[in-house]
Amino acid sequence: MSLTLYVDAARFRANQHRVLALAPEVVPVAKGNGYGLGNARLATEAASLGVDTLAVGTYAELGEVSEHFPGSLLVLTPWRSFEAPQAPNPRVIHTVGRLEDLQGLLGRDPEARFVLERMTSMLRHGFSARGLREAGEWLDANPAGTFEGVAFHLPMTGASHLSEVQRLMTDAVAAGLPATTIWVSHLTDAELASLGRSWPDYTIRPRIGTSLWLGDRDAFTVKASVLDSHEVDRGDIFGYRGRSAPKSGTILIVSGGTAHGIGLEAPTGANTMKARASAIARGGMDAAGFVRSPYSIGGKQRLFAEPPHMQASMLFVPAGSPVPAVGEEIDVRVRYTATSFDRVEIG
Ligand SMILES: *Cc1c(COP(=O)(O)O)cnc(C)c1O
Repeated sequence: MSLTLYVDAARFRANQHRVLALAPEVVPVAKGNGYGLGNARLATEAASLGVDTLAVGTYAELGEVSEHFPGSLLVLTPWRSFEAPQAPNPRVIHTVGRLEDLQGLLGRDPEARFVLERMTSMLRHGFSARGLREAGEWLDANPAGTFEGVAFHLPMTGASHLSEVQRLMTDAVAAGLPATTIWVSHLTDAELASLGRSWPDYTIRPRIGTSLWLGDRDAFTVKASVLDSHEVDRGDIFGYRGRSAPKSGTILIVSGGTAHGIGLEAPTGANTMKARASAIARGGMDAAGFVRSPYSIGGKQRLFAEPPHMQASMLFVPAGSPVPAVGEEIDVRVRYTATSFDRVEIG
């Protein structure tokens, strides 16, 4: 019995083609839980789209995608001597953000393909402007490998990124690196177009995950199976914690628990009166101390009878409300990037 992600294939793929039409240089990103769909499946989708490069988050994820996607594989996490695989792989494009790593990578694999990452206002990884110049000088003196361009990882929110990108582009030019490809994240279509006009010698390649895979939320439905159902009267004892039912109703056992990523953000253990009162005030808990769950029945959101278990959850359905039968499926709201589904059905 499962937590299932149902995918409307036509809508899912129409959205991908919309993104591809607006950004023909797109580099699809497959990482983590594969945005709920799994990295292997995303690699297959990317192959059908006909793009030449797929990005993965980490070296460990290469194995999940490499047999499903035939092209180049860009690793987004920067190269580190203690994490990168030892064996050279001509399909892999490494991300490098420190001079010592550039030297380490090319020392290990003189043919390696790499992009140099320039630090952005994210302050995550990458060279400073000066560091990028030093890397350019070092490469001039020690030519090796294949330089595949400069990467910028931009924050998601904030005002227009254009002025920041313009400054970063100037740094790339000042570093004396050949004009090739700029790999960017989180630019709007208008920003991409404007950047392309400002820097016609460069190919601008947006790395896109969320809007490519999850851009049409109506393509997805998440369902949990009803596994069991027990009528209770006020005062009946249930659950790991031996709580008593505050009123009559049904304890419904449904698939999906903490191992799937269900309900981790729900306020749990609010045992003091004060915590409970503030949870009620926020609308997260009813007066009986039940926490709002992501499950809904007939369009009505239902309450957890107790915090989710590892693979199942207990809901409380008050008397008088419709109770689905064992074997029926009910709706669940989830964060796709934080949920492990038992099944993904594309149809
Ligand atoms: C995850 C990631 C992306 C894609 O981000 P989305 O918001 O899913 O489009 C792009 N670049 C880098 C470096 C990333 O880590």
